Order: sequence, then structure tokens, then C-alpha cells
Amino acid sequence: MGLFVGLVFLFPLLWFILALFILVWVYQDAQSRNMNGALWAVIVFFLSVIGLFLYLLVRDSPHPLPAKPITRVCPKCGQVLDEDAKYCPRCGRALE
Ligand SMILES: [Zn+2]
Repeated sequence: MGLFVGLVFLFPLLWFILALFILVWVYQDAQSRNMNGALWAVIVFFLSVIGLFLYLLVRDSPHPLPAKPITRVCPKCGQVLDEDAKYCPRCGRALE
């Protein structure tokens, strides 16, 4: 009986620790791949194993574009832009 009670308390605890490790791993792994770590951690948290499975699918699927484009160029004037630029610094055109 003592063993049974121990297991009943131990399993949720182990599961909780495991889930925590998975969440931290998903977060860090996603961040290191320029993915939204916080978003994926939330998805895995709510969907559990399904979320983790989804993450692994997305993570390992070949990316159609390189992770980091080397340069962006203004479509209007050809100015080389920062990756996160909202406006072209030369001609002021709004960018996607
Ligand atoms: Zn421009």
C-alpha cells in the first residue's frame, strides 16, 4: 500500500519535471533556430505530446528560405536595408 501511494504521488511529480525540461528545451531550441520560443513553449504546454510532435515536425522540415537572408534591398531605390527595417532610410518607402 505504501508503495502504491508513493507511486501515485511520484508519477505526477516525475511527469511535471519531465514536462518542465521539455518546455525549457523547446524554448531554447526554437530560439536558437530563429523561431518563436515562447510561442512554441506555450503550444507544447497546452497540447503536451501533440504540441511536442508538432514542434519536431516543423523544426525538422526543410526551410524553403535560408534562416537569415544576407541582405534586404529596397524595392523602390535598391538601398541595402537592415533585416528589421520598417522604412527605407534613403527613400522612406514603407516595407513589409
Ligand atoms: Zn528606398
